[in-house]
Amino acid sequence: MRNFLRSVNFLSIALWAAAAAPAADITFWVEPCSVMNSACDAGDADLARWALEAWKKASGGQLHFVETKDRANALLRVLWADKNSGLYGEAVTVNVNGRRGSELHILIAEPPGKDRLLRDTIVYLTCLHESGHAMGLRHTAAFPDIMYSFQFGGDIDEYFGRYRRKLTTREDIRKNSGMSAADRDALLESIPKGVPR
Ligand SMILES: [Zn+2]
Repeated sequence: MRNFLRSVNFLSIALWAAAAAPAADITFWVEPCSVMNSACDAGDADLARWALEAWKKASGGQLHFVETKDRANALLRVLWADKNSGLYGEAVTVNVNGRRGSELHILIAEPPGKDRLLRDTIVYLTCLHESGHAMGLRHTAAFPDIMYSFQFGGDIDEYFGRYRRKLTTREDIRKNSGMSAADRDALLESIPKGVPR
């Protein structure tokens, strides 16, 4: 439940900022769930994809993400953090062929109880928050925002719980972006003219 706490290594420059010319697509790669010490499972890749879909939608289609099997050339990489690695949700800047890329380290934390949708809520919202950093978004102190940081206090259980209550089935995650109007505005402000389409 502390996934966001360590998310201080935010990116101030979005993925596309270092491109000399408007980039085409933002390539992304999702680590297959074979990490020995992660509590990930195969379906978590979809949660990462849905988070990127939500940003695409918020951008009015200006952002276009394309999945690749080629990790080395992917601008955005989603990794399932080893629970012993000390990494929680974290976005780390990486150099991808001279461009600024981002690795998102997603820790799967099993919440108390056996509520699968709460678990998926935490994974999805962590993916959304960390990919928000990759889009150039900074932390906010506003509890409704996906870019809210728990360093400002706030009820962590309620943060996830309010989203969980919107879900009846896992598919409902695709219908509930988890972001606020302020998050969308921040994204649109961060997108320069001629961004990747
Ligand atoms: Zn963060």
